[in-house]
This record gives sequence, structure tokens and C-alpha cells, in this order.
Amino acid sequence: MGKSKDFLRRIVEEDLRSGKYREIVTRFPPEPNGFPHIGHAKSISINFGIAKDYDGRCHLRMDDTNPTTEDTRYVEALKDAVKWLGFEWDNGIRHTSDYFPRLYEYAVELIKMGKAYVDSLNEEEIREYRGTVTSAGKRSKYAQRSIEENLDLFERMKKGEFEEGEHILRARIDMASPNMKMRDPLLYRIRHTHHYRAGNEWAIYPMYDFGHCLSDYIEGVTHSICTLEFENNRDIYNWVIDTLGLPPPRPYQHEFARLNINYTVMSKRKLLELVENGVVSGWDDPRMPTIAGYKRRGYTPESILNFCEQVGIAKANSVVDVSQLEFCIRDDLNKKVPRVMCVLDPLKVTIENYDGSEEIDASYYPDDVPKEGGRKLPFSKEIYIERDDFMENPPKGYYRLTPEQPVRLKHAYIISCREVVKDAGGKIIEIKAEYYPESKSGSDTSGIKVKSAIQWVDAKAVGAVEVRLYDRLFKNEAPEGIEDINPDALKVVKNALVEPAVITERPDERFQFERQGYFYADPVDYTDEKPVFNKIVGLKDSWAKKTKAPERTPKPQAKKVQVDGEVAPMSEAEQVLFDKYTLELKLNNEIANTLARDGQLSHFYEEAISVVNSPVSVANIVANEVARELKDKQAAELKFSAKQIAGLVEMIDDGTISSKIAKQVFEEMAKSGESPAQIVEAKGLVQISDPAKIEPIIDEIIAKNPDNVAKFRAGNTKLLGFFVGQVLKTTGGKANPKVVNELVAEKLK
Ligand code: ATP
Ligand code: MG
Repeated sequence: MGKSKDFLRRIVEEDLRSGKYREIVTRFPPEPNGFPHIGHAKSISINFGIAKDYDGRCHLRMDDTNPTTEDTRYVEALKDAVKWLGFEWDNGIRHTSDYFPRLYEYAVELIKMGKAYVDSLNEEEIREYRGTVTSAGKRSKYAQRSIEENLDLFERMKKGEFEEGEHILRARIDMASPNMKMRDPLLYRIRHTHHYRAGNEWAIYPMYDFGHCLSDYIEGVTHSICTLEFENNRDIYNWVIDTLGLPPPRPYQHEFARLNINYTVMSKRKLLELVENGVVSGWDDPRMPTIAGYKRRGYTPESILNFCEQVGIAKANSVVDVSQLEFCIRDDLNKKVPRVMCVLDPLKVTIENYDGSEEIDASYYPDDVPKEGGRKLPFSKEIYIERDDFMENPPKGYYRLTPEQPVRLKHAYIISCREVVKDAGGKIIEIKAEYYPESKSGSDTSGIKVKSAIQWVDAKAVGAVEVRLYDRLFKNEAPEGIEDINPDALKVVKNALVEPAVITERPDERFQFERQGYFYADPVDYTDEKPVFNKIVGLKDSWAKKTKAPERTPKPQAKKVQVDGEVAPMSEAEQVLFDKYTLELKLNNEIANTLARDGQLSHFYEEAISVVNSPVSVANIVANEVARELKDKQAAELKFSAKQIAGLVEMIDDGTISSKIAKQVFEEMAKSGESPAQIVEAKGLVQISDPAKIEPIIDEIIAKNPDNVAKFRAGNTKLLGFFVGQVLKTTGGKANPKVVNELVAEKLK
């Protein structure tokens, strides 16, 4: 520790110093009605952390007083979470349900003291009688029942003689108390439900306000730490213990501010909804803010505990920026995990002047990391690089491979492009390159200057792996639930290529894939036949709001050394545009970067979006297609106008053409200068959305592929993509993909 202590630890120290307690006992008391989330991690770190710091004990208690929602699955998840975070509970799992008999005795005691009574008002009447903050409530007429009658009714409640809601046990406190919670709080209610542990023995269940304080007392808890919502319940907590005259030592309740994080939902109820609706694959889906989700995604316990510590323990509620959590995992892994190379979207490069093969020694760690270890990188004539690490018509500020610009292959040689090979559709399928024998990393005497180093893998020695690219589950800062889901929170790359050591040596479970981010071998789906890696987090914060200086933990200095190809700083004006594009117009960083850094492009873009309100689609065309044309022309020389590009986008947006066909139309526009509408008309490129035209094609494809149909029906739902692809191909890309998708899914049922 060493730092100034939080207010809870100060209380604990004072209580030890004054001799109020000889040993500190805390508890973590979850309700087993869902998987624990990051908020629970905070509570765990506080309760278990304090017990550990002061040589005390912390109990893990299932607060299982609501039989309708509880399940042993959740108990297991809670145990796993505590263990994974590195804590041990004292002496077995405890359950509030273990105390049901004693709690019942305490209730009987209160009745005998005239301090509790059986009420028979219905729910609505109870609410009405309670009064308001500005007016006193009034006591139910049933409060006049005799002690004998109360004892008899309460016993029969327990035996299950009454319907749910028919009677309820209440404390007799003060119907005029300024603390509404003290207006004769409910102590027991009737529930005819099977309890996952107590079976059918009980027809009544204690309310939180009665069960919690007494469970704490029974267990010898000294500090009952809970979140601020329970501040007003503290009076009841004390009333129950005081009224029963329980001898010391007794527990006291202390409240702290619960953890809230933006872009995150933190309520088991809402998380359950995501699970039940299949929005995520389960409670441990790596997108979930559950401890099981973070664990599966690849977060380390250290990073989560560090985060909880950084956030601190406060008395006032606030919302923490999720980037702070992301920072913690990045910070933890930065110096820990091996750095290796993976190519997500491979582009073949043939190095024409290289013959034979070699193995290049490469360290797993950069120089500023005090860890040792390395591997051999096979290198030969044919390699793969990331498709977007080459651009034929690069915008300004593009630092990777281009026809004119050489680039370094990380750990290896500098190469330059000799020829770009394309398929019939104009797609780049190969780069023919030249390497410089003198340029080998570590002994470079070539004198060639490059602006960046890119990752690559040897074509003969790669392993094909599945990579699951995870991003934030919610797209807005204060999400409510399903309606705010970020549809791009999971992208699956089926055949990414990794260097062989990742698979054969497995120096770790977690890796930095150079320039891509941190990744984790999925603990559930990874097999030798199909290795699967989860993206834990990117190398930098791609959601950062560049406009407002966030009050975040200052980042340690060493962070900037990563070569990522885009290191030239933007001018102030470019930065303003970039912010507008990312924040207001929601463009992705790459596209926004391309547009913002190029005056002609941004000008063109602005003009086009002043005509059509479709900033993302326009940006895609301008940053790719238009940028290519502008590479060696001035805007005035273009055959097409910004207005015509807007027209093209309109045709995509209203479904007239598919975005695939739009590329073809664009080529034509650039050549002939005709309007997009003329081109579409003349070439018959209108998108086919009419099911009557699409269905026969689907039928034919289904008839031709009986094996795949059988596999699909046997559960291989991924084959849907195969059928859709075939239909699109048959129609020359003109079929409306959305309609095809629906029809295919329907027909394959
Ligand atoms: P939820 O509202 O998500 O269902 P809960 O508070 O009902 O959570 P419990 O299982 O009753 O969940 O909580 C167990 C412990 O975890 C309690 O002591 C509670 O105060 C604490 N806890 C729950 N959420 C948070 C949070 N966001 N920040 C800090 N502590 C939390
Ligand atoms: Mg709750």
C-alpha cells in the first residue's frame, strides 16, 4: 500500500486500535442469481482485500433468500470469480439459507417482544399506508393483533397454510419516521417455491433487511461493507440488532459508491436478458462485463484488481471511463507477453530476387522489456503481409508499402514493390517484390530509409487460425440494454495466419500480435486442429475522445515506441477534421485519418455529404475509390463530381444497387464521366430484390449441393454463408444480399 488509505481502511484501523474488535471479519454476500460482473470484482477486492491486509477473514456467503431466481450454476460462477481474482474465503461457502432456522427464532423473539406483527394488507395498501417523504404514514389495523395471534399466524405462514401475499411479517418501528425505510419494514414474506438448497421446507423467506444483518451477526462479521443504495437501510440494520439485544461483538454497516463504467451495463438482470435472448453466446461470452467474460477474453486478474485499486473507494457515485479498464490490461500485458506476428487479411508477396530459405532469430520481447526468449522465423521467397499494409494509390501520410515506397519486414529485410498483380475484377492478389540483402534487421548496411515496419509470415510455414476480434459490447456511453448493442463487437476472421512458433512453442497463452493488439488462446474453443484466439484489447484506445482531455491515469512514457505506420502528427486543422469525422460522423479511425490528412479528399468529402446525408457510405467511397483517382490527378481533372458520388451513394442506400456493384459503376464513372444513374440503366446493374427472381436460383443451388444442405441441417449453420455466396456469384453480384440471406435461411430450414 504505502499510499494514503481509503476511508474504509481508516475505519478498520481505528477499530483495531481502539480494541473494538480483535479480528477483522468481512464478507462478500452475493445473491446467486447471475454471474458476477466487474462491479462485483470491486466488492470482492474491497472485502477480501481488507481482510487480507489486516490478517482477518472474509466469508463468501450466498445471500440466497429469493428462491425464484437462484441456481447452483451461479454459485459455481461466484466461487470461480473469487478464486480467479486470487482470494480465498474462510472456511467453506456460507449460505443465508443455513441460518433460516435461527432467523426464524429471532423473528419469533421480536414478535414476543411486541416488536413485530403479521400484517394482512395487500401490496398496494401497504404502499399507500406508508405515506410519503413529506407526510407520515399510518399503521395497519392488523398491527393490533395480539402476540398470541401473531405467533400462531407466523407459524402457519411458515407451514405454508396461506397464499403468497396473504400475510407478511413486519417490524413495529415508526410509521412517521423521516426515514421511509423505518416505517414498519417487511421482515418475512410467503413464497411457495422450491429453494435450490432448502427444498420445500420453507414457505416463508426473510427479507434482506432482516436476513442480512443477522447473518452478519451470526457469522461474527465486524465490518459489513455495502454500496450506497443501502445507506437508508442502515437504521434497520442497527434496529434489528439493538432491539434483539444481541451481545457484542456486533457488526456495523459501511457504505461505499458502487462502480459504474460507461459503455457497460452492470446489472445482472440486464445481463441475463442478453444471455436469454442469445445476443451473446452465454454469461462467459468474451464481450460480457462478467468476470467469466473477462477471464475468457484474456484479461488477467492483476489487470482487474489494478483497475479496482486505481478507481479507489469513494463515498460519491461516479461513472468510470471504460478506457481506464482497457488501459489496465494493456499496461499489464505490455511488458509481460511475447510479441509475435499474425496476418489477418493475407496478401501474397513473392520476393523475386530471393532464393532458398533461412531462419531469422527474433526476440519475443523488445529491448525495453526485461524478459528473455525468442524464436526462429522461417523466411523464404513467398510470404504474406497484411492486405492494408500495401496501397497502390496511398493517401498522404501512408507509411507502409506502396509502388514507390519500400517497407521493412519486421525482424527481417526491407522490400520494395516491383509489380502489382490483379485478378479479372481488379482485386490485388499478389505483390511481386524485391528485397535488399544488406538490409537485414540488426545488421542493416543498406542505407535505405523506411517509414515503418510491418508484420508478415512465411507462406510455407504458417498456421491458419481463427481470430475473434472483440470490441465494446455497447455502442453508447450509457447503454440501457439490447437496443444499444454494438453490432461490430465481434468479427470473426476464419483464416488468419500466424507464425509457427505461436502454435508449436506456445510460449504463453497471451500474445501481442504486432500492430494488431493483445490476443488470448480461447480456453474453450481452442483445439490443435483449429486454434482460436480472442482479441483482448487493441494496442491503443480507438474510442478515445481526442477533443476533451480525459482525466485518466497518466500513461507511462514507454508507450509510444510501437511502430504502427501512422506516426506523423496531424496539424491542428487536420486534427479538428479527424475529431469531427470520428466523433460526429462516426467514421472509423482509418478512414477518418485518410480523409482528414488530405485537403483535396476532405474537401471532396464535405461537398458530397452536403448533398446526401450518409457520411459513412460516402466516406468509404471517397477514402478508397476517389482517393485512388486523386493520387495523380487534381480534383479539377476528375471526370466525376462530388454530387455524382452522392448520387451513387443514394443508389446504394435506397437499394437500387449493391455496394459491390457500386464499385463497378464507379470505375465507369471515372472513365466515361457519365452519371451513375445512366450507367446503371445502360448496363442493367439494378439490384435484384424481387424474391420471385431470386428463389429459382436458390432452388437450383440447393439442388446442386445436397451434401452441404445436409451438413447445414445437421447444425453447421456457418454454411449459410456458402449458399448466400453462391447466389450472389450466380447473379454477378446483383442480388440484394439481405434478401438472399433471408430467403436462403428460410429455404434451408
Ligand atoms: P446487480 O444490481 O447487478 O444485480 P446486486 O447488488 O444485486 O447487483 P448482489 O449479488 O446482491 O448483486 O451483490 C453482491 C455484492 O456486490 C453486494 O455487496 C453489492 O453491494 C456488490 N456490488 C454489486 N454491484 C456492484 C457495483 N457495481 N460496484 C460495487 N459493488 C457492487
Ligand atoms: Mg440485485
